[in-house]
Amino acid sequence: MKEKLLDLLACPTCGGDILLAYASKYDDREIIEGVLTCKKCDREYKVVRGVPRFADLGKIEEDKAATAENFGWQWTNFTQEDPKYNEQFLGWLQPVKKEFFEGKVILEGGCGKGRHTKLAAEWGATEVVGIDLGDGVESAFALTRNMPNTHIVQCDIFKLPLKKAFDYAFSVGVLHHTPDPKRHSFHSPER
Ligand SMILES: [Zn+2]
Repeated sequence: MKEKLLDLLACPTCGGDILLAYASKYDDREIIEGVLTCKKCDREYKVVRGVPRFADLGKIEEDKAATAENFGWQWTNFTQEDPKYNEQFLGWLQPVKKEFFEGKVILEGGCGKGRHTKLAAEWGATEVVGIDLGDGVESAFALTRNMPNTHIVQCDIFKLPLKKAFDYAFSVGVLHHTPDPKRHSFHSPER
């Protein structure tokens, strides 16, 4: 986790600012192990293996956990690169084009192993935050850690630990896998 991500984080419970309490392990610019704390309610959130963890999988309803587990399996086991992936992704984003990403702060809801997050960063986004509930975040972090403008966060898509600071959010093939997609939309905590 890069320290500048703190500017985009908010407590998923109360909406307060998130501070770095301490870091016990750094690797270059990345905080690998540490503890984040909410300025307002004092809740603590861990940084584990470079990824800030706002979701406690043990406390999430079973259906959501099952969704996350399936995705985690899919993303951590699917390693084959598709040469047409870039093109396919742009097809899904239509009418948005590559150039649209330049200079913007972007959120990917359900980043899996981080391929779209990486592409958005390569297309010139100022910052890209990829969030996911599943263990795809481990691969996503490994894939994007050397890019100065990408951030991976493990959290519940319906309880985002983020400020309303994003220019654009996209989600590819995630919401329709949740138990009741019509009921859901993105939420940030009220401030
Ligand atoms: Zn809080």
